[in-house]
Amino acid sequence: MKSASKTASSLPRPPAPMPATLAPLTPRSTLPWAVPDAVPARDDEINSVAQMMREARGKCLVICGAGMSTESGIPDYRSPRGAYSVSGWKPMTHQDFMKTDAMRTRYWARSYAGWPFISTRAPSLAHASLAHLAMHGAVMRPIITQNVDRLHHAARAQVTSSFQHVPGTTIEGGAKGDGHVLELHGALHEVICMSCGNRTHRDHLQQEFSSLNPAAFEVMKERERRRELLLANSPDGGAAAVVRPDGDVDLPPEAMRTFQYPSCQSCGTETGILKPAVTFFGDNVHPDVSRAAAEASETCEAVLVLGSSLSTFSALRLVRKANERGKPVALVGVGDSRADGIASLSLRARVGDVLPRLRDKVVVG
Ligand SMILES: [Zn+2]
Repeated sequence: MKSASKTASSLPRPPAPMPATLAPLTPRSTLPWAVPDAVPARDDEINSVAQMMREARGKCLVICGAGMSTESGIPDYRSPRGAYSVSGWKPMTHQDFMKTDAMRTRYWARSYAGWPFISTRAPSLAHASLAHLAMHGAVMRPIITQNVDRLHHAARAQVTSSFQHVPGTTIEGGAKGDGHVLELHGALHEVICMSCGNRTHRDHLQQEFSSLNPAAFEVMKERERRRELLLANSPDGGAAAVVRPDGDVDLPPEAMRTFQYPSCQSCGTETGILKPAVTFFGDNVHPDVSRAAAEASETCEAVLVLGSSLSTFSALRLVRKANERGKPVALVGVGDSRADGIASLSLRARVGDVLPRLRDKVVVG
């Protein structure tokens, strides 16, 4: 094991309470289908990332991608089991969604069928380990995520409920108490009116869909029953039961053609187009979110990228900005990344393998 810097090793780090939600490392055979195969990271690699985090003194910026959620059963985009690799799937673009009623009908019908799966996923050991690191101020606030599944929030809630603060466990200069998550591309859990800006919870819209489309409701219930059977009884069942990272699923054309969706009830106009509060491809990140993310990348002392190929520029530029200031960059993920050329550490491993070990080194060890 490499020794930590003088500054880091002098910091008080007594043993911390382990959240009750954390489980032992999961054997590959019990991982969800969506998780790509990967060789475990070496101990010296874990030690190097842990040292980088300690030396950042709580100012290690974390940027997460779809690889964070595969162990919760949600496929990523580009790994061998990712949405792009398994089929020729293309995500909705902002321009297409806003252009025609037919595209919105298609989007909402498929999203309606996928929502029961997406909205019931549980945070994984990777999410819980990261939330634990954040609770101890071992990473910077906010954690930046490109994911729209809100699993970081769920993990934070779980860890917070089992967390008892021990004085002295917060790394000096780090965030104290609860963590905070910045959703770079929004979340599927909220719906926004493109006319008046009113926001509602997605569950309300799901209920409206069910009322407007009683036949689709029955189809969806049967589909969910079969999906659960596939997932429970077949080791490769996930391949047939696939839901994309944005909650999209395949549907036959006839199921989409007749699907009804409402307009905004707040402004009551036909132009009140309801859209999930996510940044579709082809759209810009909200200026407030973009500003907060830029500020984090301008003040961090290190960057840790988790489960992201950094294919979207909104995330890549945060890494580049920190790197231009001479800050170290560590990548953890199974595939290539657009930051491979500037990273000082690159671990080709699952985040579910690496994060629990990092937590043990940085917080407990
Ligand atoms: Zn409205």
